[in-house]
Amino acid sequence: MQRKTFIRIGATIAAGSVVKPLTSWSQTARLKNWAGNVTYSTGNVQYPKSVTEVQQLVKKLDKLKTLGTRHCFNTIADSNRDLVSTRDLNKVVSLDTKAKTVTVESGIKYGELAPYLHKHGYALANLASLPHISVGGSITTATHGSGIKNGNLSSAVNGLEVVTADGSVVNFSKHKDASTLNAVTVGLGAIGVITKVTLDVIPTFMVRQRVFTNMLLAQVKQNFEKIVSAGYSVSLFTNWVNDNVSEVWIKSRTDEKDHTEAEFYGAKAATKNLHPVIAQSAEKCTDQMGVPGIWYERLPHFKMGFTPSTGKELQSEYFVPLQHAVEAISAISRLGKQISPHLFITEIRTIAADELWMSPCYRQTSVTIHFTWKPETAAVMKLLPIIDRELAPFNARPHWGKVFTMSPKTIASRYAKLDDFKKIAATYDPKGKFRNAFLDKNIFSVI
Ligand SMILES: Cc1cc2nc3c(=O)[nH]c(=O)nc-3n(C[C@H](O)[C@H](O)[C@H](O)COP(=O)(O)OP(=O)(O)OC[C@H]3O[C@@H](n4cnc5c(N)ncnc54)[C@H](O)[C@@H]3O)c2cc1C
Repeated sequence: MQRKTFIRIGATIAAGSVVKPLTSWSQTARLKNWAGNVTYSTGNVQYPKSVTEVQQLVKKLDKLKTLGTRHCFNTIADSNRDLVSTRDLNKVVSLDTKAKTVTVESGIKYGELAPYLHKHGYALANLASLPHISVGGSITTATHGSGIKNGNLSSAVNGLEVVTADGSVVNFSKHKDASTLNAVTVGLGAIGVITKVTLDVIPTFMVRQRVFTNMLLAQVKQNFEKIVSAGYSVSLFTNWVNDNVSEVWIKSRTDEKDHTEAEFYGAKAATKNLHPVIAQSAEKCTDQMGVPGIWYERLPHFKMGFTPSTGKELQSEYFVPLQHAVEAISAISRLGKQISPHLFITEIRTIAADELWMSPCYRQTSVTIHFTWKPETAAVMKLLPIIDRELAPFNARPHWGKVFTMSPKTIASRYAKLDDFKKIAATYDPKGKFRNAFLDKNIFSVI
């Protein structure tokens, strides 16, 4: 079906004629997001294979949203008019060993890019929990991994090529104009269709992963910064029962300290590979037990060829300034009895501050409290306002790509650069071609 659709677009574009009225394609089965909780509001999906094709589509369409790998849990990627997928924009364009950057088409998945980089002696500084996601979708939503000294994935952006509302190609670069790049990188899909991304790379490295089980929450609270600084990337998993953290995952570069100890702040070294949700098979998880592996086979929790996480779930996540980590964790742990029946697992991570205007880590090193919920939408939607209220004293910011109920006014009050962002978005998209109901509500309606 998708292939047929492309052949039709390709044929009409090649003939230089007007693309058939898009409403005639609305018979196409509507796509869902990865989790299946969002069915996109249109069946009109186009799959350009080149920047020129993206330009032609953008010129032609009055309203559209770009689709990456569809891993967001909310309607940020939805459109009731047209979707332009980056599925076929998936190539490595060039590796600049002098500048230490790689340029890729925006639809490439991290899991596809990483082996290429390693083969050439390079790495990305960090990855999210899964490698299945597109570079374009990830950087525009401030997707992150963990590590108190590691910025989110958007902080590796060195340049962007974007097709803006009038169909022109605009290049943003750290070298030429870092402040504009900071403004548009976490662009939430509102600046245009990102067609190419240039990312900073570092020399390749090896990582070992060790897991410790059952750490008392009291230990976490007492030693939070020491615990999350114990490795290159550290994650704490809890379901908020028994006042403990069920698993602590420490990912260390092999040139750093290896945590071979039998106990780590009272938690016991695991004796086999584990899944963050202890009842699930560790088969889909990256290798643990201190076995060294290439950075991209250890930094994500989940392997490329397998379904990540639990499969049927919802996700929410809140960013809190690091200095409030312990208070925020305490506030959520007080809700433990309410939360845990609807939860698969919570993950607590840290992310370094950045300069990206719409990043939840803008000028604040943050702790994130993430919830992998059971697919119980009604119950989750009742819990989220309670979590919002408990985290309000710490000015929590929700993850742009996950489920949240925080009011647009509250979100606006927590983004110092929101008004400037709206202005710059309007410069590249004066008529709101790339806006949808999500952006209108959460970003553009707030005065
Ligand atoms: C199992 C699972 C685990 C996850 N783990 C993490 C994690 O560890 N850390 C984390 O931070 N998040 C995580 N996420 C959330 C998710 O990965 C991110 O939110 C990310 O946005 C997904 O990228 P995507 O390509 O799927 O984006 P999509 O959902 O396809 O799109 C997201 C947004 O980006 C825009 N967009 C996409 N591509 C482009 C482009 N080329 N140009 C302009 N705009 C574009 C869309 O219009 C939309 O607004 C997880 C999600 C799942 C399902």
